[in-house]
Amino acid sequence: MKSSFQSSVVNTLAITPTRDEAIARLAAFMPNVSGYAKGRNFDRPGNQAVSEASPFLRYRLVTEREVVESVLAEYSYESAEKFIQEICWRTYWKGYLEMRPGIWERYKVDNQALHDNLEVDLQNRLEKARRGQTGIDCFDDWVQQLVTTGWLHNHTRMWFASIWIFTLKLPWQAGAALFLEHLLDGDAASNTLSWRWVAGLHTRGKHYLARADNINRYTDGRYNPQGLLNESAAPLPPDGAFESVPFAKVALLRDVHLPSLSCCPAGLLVIPDDLTPESGELSETPFSSICVLSGNDVMDSFNASPKVRAFCEGAVADSADRLAAHWDGKVTECQGEVIPTVGRASPDNVGRRERMRVYGGSVNCWVDGVVTWARNEHLKSVWYLRPPVGPWGDAMDDLRSALKAQGIKVFEYRRRWDSLHWPHATAGYFRFKDGLQDRLNRLLG
Ligand SMILES: Cc1cc2nc3c(=O)[nH]c(=O)nc-3n(C[C@H](O)[C@H](O)[C@H](O)COP(=O)(O)OP(=O)(O)OC[C@H]3O[C@@H](n4cnc5c(N)ncnc54)[C@H](O)[C@@H]3O)c2cc1C
Repeated sequence: MKSSFQSSVVNTLAITPTRDEAIARLAAFMPNVSGYAKGRNFDRPGNQAVSEASPFLRYRLVTEREVVESVLAEYSYESAEKFIQEICWRTYWKGYLEMRPGIWERYKVDNQALHDNLEVDLQNRLEKARRGQTGIDCFDDWVQQLVTTGWLHNHTRMWFASIWIFTLKLPWQAGAALFLEHLLDGDAASNTLSWRWVAGLHTRGKHYLARADNINRYTDGRYNPQGLLNESAAPLPPDGAFESVPFAKVALLRDVHLPSLSCCPAGLLVIPDDLTPESGELSETPFSSICVLSGNDVMDSFNASPKVRAFCEGAVADSADRLAAHWDGKVTECQGEVIPTVGRASPDNVGRRERMRVYGGSVNCWVDGVVTWARNEHLKSVWYLRPPVGPWGDAMDDLRSALKAQGIKVFEYRRRWDSLHWPHATAGYFRFKDGLQDRLNRLLG
């Protein structure tokens, strides 16, 4: 049974942010996987050539592993190769940013500096672009589509970013921020690194130039911005982000074990970057209490639009409902500052599922919300799937310190999928892709 909280946020969206919806959409797309390579570059209204699965994958309402597994249950690797490779672009970008968190830090600093020192001319040009009033029809329409639907086709995102950077000569960071604000799938790694890729900052010296002929062809003639685009711009000069960032290794997390008595009561914290912990390594661990929260402060940090907030909140509510069903518990809704105390968890209720409580909802201050939950529940340890570099990742240092200050132990886990693939995201995608099939064989058998 769905909570009333969930149905109220879901009503404001055109797509339902639930795992059931993700699975149903992927099942409906499955017959189209064979035609994916041929059709994926066309941006056609209502076309079935791409999956539109990205908002679901972004919050891991369904995981990359699950999608690849279900594709390989129906297709050979060779016949579904292009689709599998595209799914794995997401994995590659995440691994790449995870090992170069300085790129994300630098992006945030640059954006703030831009905002603090905005000259009038640039401010006016940015406003025109953000409102879709540049006079370039296709671009102006895409801005409207971005704002009203929260989604753009991949090829359109490439044209958009290229026109923004090379024709309108606007800072790429401001374009990336506009995408994060409005995309339902807005994701620190895929977004920041794709903008850098278009600008020529990822593969040094190689940039992506939008051409009128190409737009005309792949929009079936709906747009033809002949003479309006800068089709001969040079890539942006290197910005030093590669050099200045330490190359941090991704830590392999320990195998999951049952909480020892000294760690009980143990709580599971579910972070919006991965909303399906019941599928995977933590699925059998007996927790005393579960908390699935989104935070207004985290959403504010990237100025998330009401649609993005509604999608995330709906996904959080869906996760709370599912986890309650999986761990045989009951959902208690949290809102604002309120994390109710429902009862006291104790070491003896580990595994006694009739007493499991699942807290879900949206709070104003995410770290405070989680700490209040852990304190109210008298938890001795908090377990979670570690969020990747991005807005939730940004809050983790504060959260770890706050929990430790309460004497609560923290256990972080990473999915095997990520641990296996991320360390290979050291250079370009083509090198990552080289060992992909072998790695999938090892993981999936
Ligand atoms: C400038 C720019 C910004 C982008 N920002 C984001 C973002 O914030 N969040 C986001 O999820 N994607 C982003 N992308 C990647 C890509 O455009 C979307 O993932 C894709 O359009 C989603 O549509 P789909 O689900 O129909 O993709 P499909 O073509 O059906 O592909 C299936 C899945 O594979 C993954 N995928 C496909 N192409 C890419 C790609 N190029 N990079 C990463 N993953 C990919 C996605 O998870 C996608 O859902 C960006 C691309 C560009 C060029």
